[in-house]
Parts: sequence; C-alpha cells; structure tokens
Amino acid sequence: MCTSGLPVHSLMLTATLDFNVSPAFDLTCQIPLPMPELAEVSFYARQWEAGLGREVREVVTHPVARIYRDCPAATVTKELRGRHLDSWQTHGKLMLFGFGQGRWLSLHLGMSGELRTDPVTDAAPDKHAHLVLVMDEIRLVFSDPRMFGRVTVDVTSDGGLPLWWRELPPAIHQDAFDAKLLGDFLERHPRTPLKTLLLDQRCFPGIGNWMADEICWQLRMAPAIPTGELSQKQIGALHKMIRRIASEALRIIGTDWSDPPKSWLFLHRWRDGGLCPRRGCGTPLLRAELRGRTTCWCPRCQL
Ligand SMILES: [Zn+2]
Repeated sequence: MCTSGLPVHSLMLTATLDFNVSPAFDLTCQIPLPMPELAEVSFYARQWEAGLGREVREVVTHPVARIYRDCPAATVTKELRGRHLDSWQTHGKLMLFGFGQGRWLSLHLGMSGELRTDPVTDAAPDKHAHLVLVMDEIRLVFSDPRMFGRVTVDVTSDGGLPLWWRELPPAIHQDAFDAKLLGDFLERHPRTPLKTLLLDQRCFPGIGNWMADEICWQLRMAPAIPTGELSQKQIGALHKMIRRIASEALRIIGTDWSDPPKSWLFLHRWRDGGLCPRRGCGTPLLRAELRGRTTCWCPRCQL
C-alpha cells in the first residue's frame, strides 16, 4: 500500500522528475499515474507563461528525438529563433504557442511530457529536455522521457491560426459542445461502450482515462453500457456531466495542480483496495480492461 501520502498529481510530478522511475508508474506505490488530459495539459501550457513577450535567443534540440517525427528539429529552430512568444492556448490534449508573423508551435505531451520554465544557468538541461527555448534569464523546457509527445511548427501566410487548429471539434467545456452534437455522435456509434466512446478525441477532445471513469461514476452509469441503450434523459445528463467535470478539472487541476475533491472517484481509483467514495456506499471498486484501457467502477452504484 502506498504510504507516501502525496496527492496523486504530486506523485506524477515526482515520477517524471526522477529519471530512474518509470513515468507511467510509481514503482514504490504501484499506482498507475495519470497521463496528461485536458486539465493537466492546461496546467503545463501555463508553465511557459513566463516567456510571453520574450525573444527566443537560442533553440536547443535533440534532433534525433522521436518527438520530431512530424517536423524536423532544424525547422523548429529556423522558424522560432529570434521570434517573440506572444500567445498560448490549449485545445483538449493539444497546445499551441504563437510566435508572431504566423509562426505557431504545437505540442502534444504524449504519455510523459511536461513543460516547465527554468532559470538560465551554466548547467546543461537534463537529458530528457528535447526542446529548450532559451530566453533572457529563463529557458522554456519541453521534457519527455518516453518521447510519445510530438512537436510541429506551422507557418501561416495570413498570420492566422493554422487551418487544422481551426477545424478541431468544439471544446467540451464550451457552448459549441451542445447536446445535439453529443446525441448525433452517440447515434453513430450505438454499440460502443460508453467509457470507450468518451475517449474518442473526435468528439471529446481532452478526455482521457481518469476523466472518462469519473464521468461514468458520477452519472452512476456502467462504463460498458452500449451508448445506443442510453435514453434521451440520460444523454442530457451525460452532456451536463461532461461539461461539469471538464470545467471543474480545468479550475482545480489546470490552475495549480491540485487534486479534485475526495468525493470524486479520482483519488480512489488508482490503487488496489480503493473504496467507492459515494456517501453510504463504500463498496470495493473494481478494475478491469475495457477495450484495452484500464477501467475503474463501482459495481454497486454503476449498473
Ligand atoms: Zn458505489
């Protein structure tokens, strides 16, 4: 049993900072650590805010790192050196940083990526820092031990956002993500288990494993229920819950990396022996693979 007493999010940070520890698992506690989802991505993007208005003096890359599989490191260097960071935004699990005159750097954190801002020192960045933007006094670091993350640079002739970014599906915490859009998507995939469908980034950008489990648990819906069996009333409740979980996660985790309340499934789902936190329940939680993803649920509350 884990005795560290650290919040789950702290464990994630600890693991990614200790390069002898697999970033996907805390080996001491045997707790699977969360991969970046909507709110974690927002938190990490915010870590580069200190660079706003500053010039990129130098770009340090590891050219053979897998994160450059879609865009050569030399292109990143060429397009960003001498530019000023002037904006950042996120969409689901994607980040977009603007450098003026139509230069856009997009990042995906993959399984273990993180962004941070370090002071400039004589010491070289750590070996997992595959992209470093050196500025006056600070350097913006993209570190990714497992290199499932990715980096791309777009240059737009009109200075506007890249076309592919403008064509992303509506963000799940905004009004454009409405009940009709959700209903239409469910209708096209009636036999897919609810949990599995919630992981589909074409309709639910930013939802990952823990958010999908949380949504099902809070709705008292079995994660394996085919979406075609949901009533209109249940679809309406699902729509409200998706927006609520997304907004709360962004507010709680996305700003300062806090853990959600103990009344959520979140803090109880990671370890063996976890109990359902719903008042009056306390049933041992179950975990099993559902379409290849570890899923946690309460067999009493979620029928
Ligand atoms: Zn329960």
